Amino acid sequence: KGSSLDYDREVQSVCPYCGVGCQLSFKIKDDKIAWVDGIDGPANENRLCVKGRFGFDYVRHPHRLTKPLIRRPDAPDKGLNVDPANPWTHFREATWDEALDAAAAGLAKLRGFFGGKAVAGFGSAKCSNEEAYLFQKLIRTGFGHNNVDHCTRLCHASSVAALMENVGSGAVTATFNEIENADCAIVIGCNPTENHPVAATYFKQFAKRGGKLIVMDPRAQALKRHASHMLQFRPGTDVAMLNAIMHVIVEEKLYDRNYVQGFTEGFFQLRDHLKDYAPEKMAPICGIEADVLRDVARTFANAKAGMIFWGMGISQHIHGTDNSRCLISLALLCGHVGRPGSGLHPLRGQNNVQGASDAGLIPMVLPDYQSVKEEGARELFRSIWQMEVNPEPGLTVVEIIDAIYRGEIKGMYILGENPAMSDPDVEHARKALAHLDHLVVQDIFLTETANFADVILPASAWPEKTGTVTNTNRQVQMGRKALNPPGDAREDWWIVVQMAKRLGLDWKYTHPSEVFKEMKMGMQSLRNISWGRLEEEGAVTYPSLSPEDPGQAVVFGDGFPRPGGRAKFTPARVTPPAEVPDQKFPMILTTGRQLEHWHTGSMTRRATVLDWAEPEANASLHPKTLRKLGVEPGEMIRIETRRGAIDIMARADRAVAEDMVFVPFAYVEAAANTLTNPQLDPYGKIPEFKFSACRVRKTGED
Ligand code: SF4
Repeated sequence: KGSSLDYDREVQSVCPYCGVGCQLSFKIKDDKIAWVDGIDGPANENRLCVKGRFGFDYVRHPHRLTKPLIRRPDAPDKGLNVDPANPWTHFREATWDEALDAAAAGLAKLRGFFGGKAVAGFGSAKCSNEEAYLFQKLIRTGFGHNNVDHCTRLCHASSVAALMENVGSGAVTATFNEIENADCAIVIGCNPTENHPVAATYFKQFAKRGGKLIVMDPRAQALKRHASHMLQFRPGTDVAMLNAIMHVIVEEKLYDRNYVQGFTEGFFQLRDHLKDYAPEKMAPICGIEADVLRDVARTFANAKAGMIFWGMGISQHIHGTDNSRCLISLALLCGHVGRPGSGLHPLRGQNNVQGASDAGLIPMVLPDYQSVKEEGARELFRSIWQMEVNPEPGLTVVEIIDAIYRGEIKGMYILGENPAMSDPDVEHARKALAHLDHLVVQDIFLTETANFADVILPASAWPEKTGTVTNTNRQVQMGRKALNPPGDAREDWWIVVQMAKRLGLDWKYTHPSEVFKEMKMGMQSLRNISWGRLEEEGAVTYPSLSPEDPGQAVVFGDGFPRPGGRAKFTPARVTPPAEVPDQKFPMILTTGRQLEHWHTGSMTRRATVLDWAEPEANASLHPKTLRKLGVEPGEMIRIETRRGAIDIMARADRAVAEDMVFVPFAYVEAAANTLTNPQLDPYGKIPEFKFSACRVRKTGED
């Protein structure tokens, strides 16, 4: 950290990485970010992790897109074949007018010829709320349908489906900071020290104060050292384990009878359903001893205030919605919702995945999760937009890729997403992108997805834009522009507005604050939150009950936004993974993130410190498994599934079970999603990233 002489100015904003939403201060010198400090935001209280502190020089990386690009007529066939440092055999530079005209004309031509449904859009959780709102509005009104989605489909769509169904709201019921008022917390299917590091510091403090921290995950993790219970259960057996815990709570009458009677419905169906799930019967399935399951049940049920945190280990399964239903039922049974120190908290992944979802970047709902099927919701947005809203839910991320193969979708506008890295069975997704008649990509780097583009529009990195974002805590926060974008790159909201005008929409926005004002007209969640307030206060939690109220950390203390004000128990049955290990593919592949690398790596792999700390693709296996395979740590292994194979460096890791292999998905040279299974959860339509059958051998050996 330098002295005050070491920078010219400072700008307060929000971290662009994970959903914790740490507030920070950019220290700017010579028009570059010299360093970053944490400031006193509601979610981080001055803390930052390694990404927030050291992950910012990607902003001035030489690979930044600084000019609009148009594919050359004589370019090689579309494929993953463009050198980001030298794209000139594939693309030529263009002026903004030329590129926007070409981008919009290509989409308009498809709309004219095949109808608006022939075009789909992927927006981004890395953009601001205003940009997400504009993007979904552009697809809905410019093309007359709802084929617009974003990466929430790949992370917490199943959690949101279960929360909407059973609680009536897709957001968390309590901030993670509420853990300071809890005396027991379950952390399941997530690895916060790697993926939500600042939230993890609150969890560790909670344990240090004597709180009971129950960690449940098929992989061990650093939080284990702070846990009162560590349940390393068999992958994919969440429903069996959680039902067994609830069985004990019902059998031993540990549930909160008054709460269940006063605030819930469906208890008797759940009680009858749970009879089949005695811990002694479920123990061999989930790999956790019956005594331990009973002890966990008693510990959580007897707590005065308990919270449940979960991540993609819960959501990314074909039974992801069932997993979340179990967690919701568990909290409701014990009355651990709506009170201080109690609540349900799916830890959101990207810095604005909550906000982008709230803003309507979802094919079945308008802003604030208002169903496109509801006449009242359509009427509301018809009156704001002066355009009709299609009542038919649109296609989701994986469904859009499949619709390209069927010839139903022929053009796409992709803003800030990277499906050529992030989609399951990624070769299938890449072939689909290559198949499109017209692809417009708007991004800050020539990403793997931009390799397939016809027109590339150079956008702004987060420190180069002004806008609001909403973190996992429902805290709407103000991001302030610290730098100008390089070259001719422009802010995303401006580019979307230019595209809309060329697609025939009469848009007159001149600043993101005008977009925020329009959002408030259709979004009750933003009541009492104004742009001016956010500029002044930096953050307001929704719901905010008055212009002075900083917002409600805990919600639903006096009932739920469901019929009769009651939450619902939805029993869940055990469903096996879509693909179970067999003789040919005897091991289990699971994928995820690492502390230093963020999602598909387009930013963090271009951040010097982060890339230095974790420079190479690696797969984690138990040392015993490596010995059995005759592989030393550091040697290359080949991992194969029914969809493809990758060669990757082996790393010894006792946290991984002996029949498992963990692969992070940030590395294009060993793309984990070459291997993953695109089978979907039927409710949340989320792919089963967390479980594929695989086989592993030393590279070069038959
Ligand atoms: Fe950024 Fe998340 Fe780290 Fe906070 S915890 S600094 S939001 S990556």
